[in-house]
Amino acid sequence: MYDLIIVGAGPAGMSAAIYGARAGMELLVMEKKPMCGGQVLDTYEVDNYLGIPGINGYDLGTRFREHGEKLGVPIKEEEVLAVEDAGSVKRVRTASGVYEARALIWAAGARHARLGVEGETELAGKGVSYCAVCDGAFYRGRTTAVVGGGDAAAEDAVFLARFCEKVYLIHRRDSLRAAKSLQKKLAELPNVEILWNTVVQKIAGGENVEELVLRTASGEESSLRAQGVFIAVGIRPDTEAVRDLVECDENGYILAGEDCVTTASGIFAAGDVRKKPLRQIITAAADGANAVASAEGFLLSF
Ligand SMILES: Cc1cc2nc3c(=O)[nH]c(=O)nc-3n(C[C@H](O)[C@H](O)[C@H](O)COP(=O)(O)OP(=O)(O)OC[C@H]3O[C@@H](n4cnc5c(N)ncnc54)[C@H](O)[C@@H]3O)c2cc1C
Repeated sequence: MYDLIIVGAGPAGMSAAIYGARAGMELLVMEKKPMCGGQVLDTYEVDNYLGIPGINGYDLGTRFREHGEKLGVPIKEEEVLAVEDAGSVKRVRTASGVYEARALIWAAGARHARLGVEGETELAGKGVSYCAVCDGAFYRGRTTAVVGGGDAAAEDAVFLARFCEKVYLIHRRDSLRAAKSLQKKLAELPNVEILWNTVVQKIAGGENVEELVLRTASGEESSLRAQGVFIAVGIRPDTEAVRDLVECDENGYILAGEDCVTTASGIFAAGDVRKKPLRQIITAAADGANAVASAEGFLLSF
């Protein structure tokens, strides 16, 4: 029986592991991938994590692992398939067995939906991005495109318009789903142009993104020169295994405050799985620390 099981070895899970290990907890981290870092591994360059500007995502993931190793954090490379909440015991099932703990931190992160077009995978991190807040600053004075029509796409376009010379918002329909207030902001920005009823067919470039091949609903093809394309067509939190145990919003994000306390006693939510305004490495790491502080309080009640 562990004090604490942490699911996910991204920034939230590894931060929780480091705080938990330093607090002397008997803990176990479960991670389905062979490497720590989570989404950080998909990031070519992280330029906004305090103290280590410009670090490569893989190197940052390696540092997370090394930091854990230094403190003796045990990591099992297994996917958690189901969680059972038996009150004072939380059971975690994987393909190979069942693990038990008094408390659980769910830090399984989120996945960005892909467009699924030619060039997207090849040019990921070379102009194709899924995070404007993360990568936008690399495109100062340049032309970028945002793909999508919801709040995230509209917010990305507003954010990028601050420093990009021109921002195209490419949407497959003739109206945006984004909040009216965001639509109003977009309309006021002279460097944002919305391309309605248009889809991206291909992202092209050599070393980096150079142009997008577009197609309108009436079948007309055109090419758009842009150095960056931000894909904002959806993000899905990895919360399926705990959705029946803790309260989530309509998009599957776990309802928990800054203390990471969920509606289930002894189950805590940290990082991108939590409903919150900003999903970044630094906020995920902060959640990991807060979740352990809350778990410590909970464990003391035994
Ligand atoms: C392309 C890209 C670029 C980004 N760039 C930046 C940036 O420059 N700066 C920044 O601050 N943020 C950036 N972000 C956002 C940042 O990476 C995330 O906010 C952060 O990684 C969230 O951390 P997390 O620990 O909550 O989740 P994740 O990083 O998603 O980690 C979750 C971990 O849980 C594991 N997992 C999931 N389900 C299970 C399961 N059932 N069993 C076991 N393990 C499981 C996953 O394999 C993963 O390792 C970027 C995101 C993307 C996609």
